[in-house]
Amino acid sequence: MKYVLDAHTHTIASGHAYNTIREMACAGQSKGLELLGITEHAPAMPGTCHEFYFHNLRIMDRDAYAIPILLGSELNIMDDQGTVDLDTEVLVQLDYNIASLHPPCIPFMNKDRITQAVIHTIKNPNIHIIGHLDDARFEVDYDQVVRAAGEYRTLMEVNNSSMLPTSYRPNARENYKRMLEACEKYRVCIIMNSDAHSDSTVGRHDMSLALIEELGFPEDLIVNTAVEKFKSFIKK
Ligand SMILES: [Zn+2]
Ligand SMILES: [Zn+2]
Repeated sequence: MKYVLDAHTHTIASGHAYNTIREMACAGQSKGLELLGITEHAPAMPGTCHEFYFHNLRIMDRDAYAIPILLGSELNIMDDQGTVDLDTEVLVQLDYNIASLHPPCIPFMNKDRITQAVIHTIKNPNIHIIGHLDDARFEVDYDQVVRAAGEYRTLMEVNNSSMLPTSYRPNARENYKRMLEACEKYRVCIIMNSDAHSDSTVGRHDMSLALIEELGFPEDLIVNTAVEKFKSFIKK
């Protein structure tokens, strides 16, 4: 399968990532990507950039780098109402937004409450991707969540970093099998993302590709194959 984009990466602005935008774009170019999305952690994540960082992204020239870039955020889902940590006024200015569950930004809660948290998040028109919904510590009802994602045209992410030996999200691969089964059943699109925190992992989808191949997951439900396919989901 040919893939041309990676839409979840972090730079030094996130506080625990190690390269600049320019370095990440060069890495994307050397991997043959046609589009790179940079999504810094939103302000509730300890050590990340201030809200003003996101406000000011409007000054950035998306075409001034080795490959075209998009600038968004990785929001923290904060509670079971799907509250996120940037105001709507900021979210609408960004190219797109991912929302994820991260300790310590949300407490561990039971399956019903986590499922509600994610469904409320999916209903937010300024959120386009649910990031790494694969962590055994946040159990969810994949059937309900994936159905909601289909209804609201939100992409479900398959996160390569979660399946690497360095990951701290337990049981990600097994959870992705369940998520992908629901995505195939309801014909819901997915996006493979590297979640790179350094330039060496930009565009890395090896673990995701192996899983997708093992499951025979349909290629037409994967948006990484064409820039326009991805872009049709960030206009919602
Ligand atoms: Zn991070
Ligand atoms: Zn994350």
